[in-house]
Amino acid sequence: MTDYPHLLSPITLAGVTLRNRSLMGSMHTGLEETGDWGRVAAFYAARAKGGAGLIVTGGMAPNREGGVFPGAAGLYSDKDIANHRRVTEAVHAEGGHIAMQILHAGRYAYSKDCVGPSAVKSPISPFPPRELDEEGIEAQIADIATAAARAIAAGYDGVEVMGSEGYFLNQFLVNHTNRRTDGWGGTYENRMRLPVEVVRRVRAAMGPAAVLIYRISLIDLVPDGSTWDEVVQLAKAVEAAGASVLNTGIGWHEARVPTIATSVPRAGFAHLTARLRPEVAIPVIASNRINTPEVAEGLLAAGAADMVSMARPWLADAAFIAKAASGRAREIAPCIACNQACLDHTFSGKLTSCLVNPRACHETELVYAATDCPKRVAVVGAGPAGMMTAIVASQRGHRVTLFDKGNEVGGQLNLAKRVPGKEEFHGLVEWFAALLRSPAIELRLGRAATVEDLLGFDEVVIATGVTPRDPGIPTEPGSTVLSYIEVLKGAPVGRRVAVVGAGGIGFDVAETLVQDGVSPTVEPALWRAEWGVSTPWEDRGGLDPKGPQPHPPAREVHLLQRKAEKPGRHLGKTTGWIHRASLAMKRVRMQGGVNYDRITPEGLWISHGPNREAPELVAVDAVVLCAGQEPDRGLSEELDRRGIRHHRIGGADVAAELDAKRAIDQAARLAAGL
Ligand code: NAP
Ligand code: SF4
Repeated sequence: MTDYPHLLSPITLAGVTLRNRSLMGSMHTGLEETGDWGRVAAFYAARAKGGAGLIVTGGMAPNREGGVFPGAAGLYSDKDIANHRRVTEAVHAEGGHIAMQILHAGRYAYSKDCVGPSAVKSPISPFPPRELDEEGIEAQIADIATAAARAIAAGYDGVEVMGSEGYFLNQFLVNHTNRRTDGWGGTYENRMRLPVEVVRRVRAAMGPAAVLIYRISLIDLVPDGSTWDEVVQLAKAVEAAGASVLNTGIGWHEARVPTIATSVPRAGFAHLTARLRPEVAIPVIASNRINTPEVAEGLLAAGAADMVSMARPWLADAAFIAKAASGRAREIAPCIACNQACLDHTFSGKLTSCLVNPRACHETELVYAATDCPKRVAVVGAGPAGMMTAIVASQRGHRVTLFDKGNEVGGQLNLAKRVPGKEEFHGLVEWFAALLRSPAIELRLGRAATVEDLLGFDEVVIATGVTPRDPGIPTEPGSTVLSYIEVLKGAPVGRRVAVVGAGGIGFDVAETLVQDGVSPTVEPALWRAEWGVSTPWEDRGGLDPKGPQPHPPAREVHLLQRKAEKPGRHLGKTTGWIHRASLAMKRVRMQGGVNYDRITPEGLWISHGPNREAPELVAVDAVVLCAGQEPDRGLSEELDRRGIRHHRIGGADVAAELDAKRAIDQAARLAAGL
């Protein structure tokens, strides 16, 4: 008997029987662009081996103008088929199924050659699209159909037609981007003609025995977006045109509402899929912020969807379903929806990976091979770096003793999980703790390790982390100055607070201070009000015309930094805007270019610019220091003095710009080579 009977039950689409109800959603990894198709095949084969019911590839362009950027991977000619066949054969050899996503970016293509229904530039691209004429539209449809035929020739089980997220097909649907007055614009029937015609032609090109997924935008989250009636009309029309299943798309890329970040409630948009389900006869797939088998099973059991799409969770753990099916769900590495190693990499032109699983997209290069020389390994520090070292080393066959002076494992992750919007960190710490419960790992908690404790081991790894930096601001007696650690652990701070330092931790502390009561991340109705999200059956595009209705801030917060630039510029590429917007909504006063002159019982005295001009008092009850970190190297230096060879990783190695991604990656690579 399984805990996930719905998730693990088969489903048949267009005559293709999938072994379970999980769809690995499309992700752009950058692997295809490396040209190393063996690596692409290894990535997908690992997910097929791990039980994915149906894999959808990253978006493949049907032609040059439709590529998300110049040189983006695609099926441009018959010559590309052989590469794709390597992928499909590898997936089928593992008993999996795979569909290729056809993605035409339209005006989102980062190229001066981009095309669209009308010459309306997108706010997230510098390039205005060229308005297509009748012939141009026909050429795009033909290219998409040809790409589908090539996909079948390459052995794919079908295709996903990308019709959401504000891409080409979606751009035809709404008046804002489609200003045409010919047969492809004007009435909704005309505006939806392109997606429907594409589905009809793709079905004709593939024949009846292939899966055709249509990804439909259920809530555009942009002004002037579709209404629910229009969404339903389109859903019925693409069903009639030959779609086998409808996948859920949420929000255009230019939307100013977060849709997949960690602060978005789990399954926060599944109610839209549930509402669509009775409108069509074909199955529907729920998507966005579904990251555990429990959440997936709950949606299916409740009848909200027929399948569940998870994308990033398959980066975090390639064996997601295999573990769920074999009673090892607690061992599934959780996707914490941080975007730090996936989307932030993609948007920086770097290969995708995963913060919790550095092997993602590095399957052929980072290998945890069983050791033929088992060693006794001491690891000091049970933060992300130390825990990852212990886990990978033990999995390879070494015996590990993990020391930490605290009474619990997790290190700074235990602080992160207290931040409203970062509740996913609870699951991450629980996952580490579950894997540390191994007969090959001895945990020694509650006492600082000494050099003597470390004698007699074959390998010693120091992962002692960081200590908060004291910025040395002159402070008068009677002032209240706290470290971020004290504040995140719940120390009282009063009603007015100045936060010194606007890095990741300064933002986390500010978000904690302005929030009281329940976190919107665990209360979807509250979260929707905070971001001004309604439903497409109330308002076009699902945007509340009143705009965001944030709960009033719990405190008056000032977030300060010395650099004369906008605070938060160096936060995650795809998430920084969310943190900045969320603090702005809570009226946090963010300032750069300040000097910290002194702290008095009245507050923090600051001045401005290199000449310390315009001194002023920021009248606050407490000052919280979030001024970065210094490496905690005491033990490492003592080992150096005693000539004891050891490895130093994580914050103890380099504290500057430390984050869990770097710590875990460094640890995994070290442990893979021990
Ligand atoms: P950080 O990002 O390096 O920020 C440190 C802040 O302290 C900066 O704003 C810096 O700005 C200020 N500062 C540095 N030296 C100072 C001094 N001597 N006096 C006064 N201010 C000083 O470090 P962090 O905030 O401690 O975060 C540590 C790491 O954790 C970050 O690198 C980040 O990647 C990670 N993290 C990430 C997130 C996330 O949301 N992704 C959240 C939390 C933590 P000025 O020098 O301009 O004053
Ligand atoms: Fe999920 Fe973060 Fe990994 Fe991306 S990097 S897959 S968001 S855990």
